Amino acid sequence: MVGNDSQILAPGERPAVEVIHPGGTGPVVLSCEHASAAIPAALDGLGLAEADRLSHAVWDPGALALAVAISERMGAPLVASRVSRLVYDCNRPPSSPGAMPERSEVVEVPGNVGLNDEQRAARVCEIYRPFQAALSGVLDRHGGALVTVHSFTPLWHGEPRATEIGLLHDSDDRLALAMMDNWTGPLKAELNAPYSATDGVTHTLREHAVSRGRLNVMIEVRNDLLADAEKVSLAAEQLCGALSLSLAALATEGEEGCAPASAALPTGEGA
Ligand SMILES: [Zn+2]
Repeated sequence: MVGNDSQILAPGERPAVEVIHPGGTGPVVLSCEHASAAIPAALDGLGLAEADRLSHAVWDPGALALAVAISERMGAPLVASRVSRLVYDCNRPPSSPGAMPERSEVVEVPGNVGLNDEQRAARVCEIYRPFQAALSGVLDRHGGALVTVHSFTPLWHGEPRATEIGLLHDSDDRLALAMMDNWTGPLKAELNAPYSATDGVTHTLREHAVSRGRLNVMIEVRNDLLADAEKVSLAAEQLCGALSLSLAALATEGEEGCAPASAALPTGEGA
């Protein structure tokens, strides 16, 4: 125990979430659920092997830098987790096995094996709920579209991934499709790659944007394309260009009364 009201986060480690540019009035709200590799001291590194400590299993390398760059360019509020996805994955509901995984790809997570109900509840209360509350608070004040920012590994189970940038959607595909239409190189964008909603990766979109009828998209960038500030800047520039053009096009459509019918909700729960 690290405090009377906390089992996980010590006073110096709180809060579990930060809001960057909270007063931003740009056209989008950004969310970065896998922004941090921090594991609270009370969890003793989750028993991870040293080699795994800063791996993609723990966080999305480069995602926070990209989200901050987009936030600065677009004047957008950014809600970012300050705790590793292995402590609690804020892009998963508490019922998902992936919320506190015992294993992630090839990485064993001893500190997540055999968690009891009280330990699971503490992670939900101290990590997931504050993140949800912060994002809801920003979206309630701000009428913009929701954009979630992630990165993925160049290799998956040893196989190289050719995808550079993925634009993913849940049941509302308007913004993702508009961005594909408005995309210009040099980086290449693909729709619903390397994952899609059927892999269970659109929890935040569904919970916070689909439920509010807001435009939304999940951005996935291969993390070797975010390896330094120059690369981050290039990816941010292309993403902001496509976002701005797409939001303008969709606003025009809306004024003309051409809002599309909503598609069926995808099902499934996976990676
Ligand atoms: Zn991620």
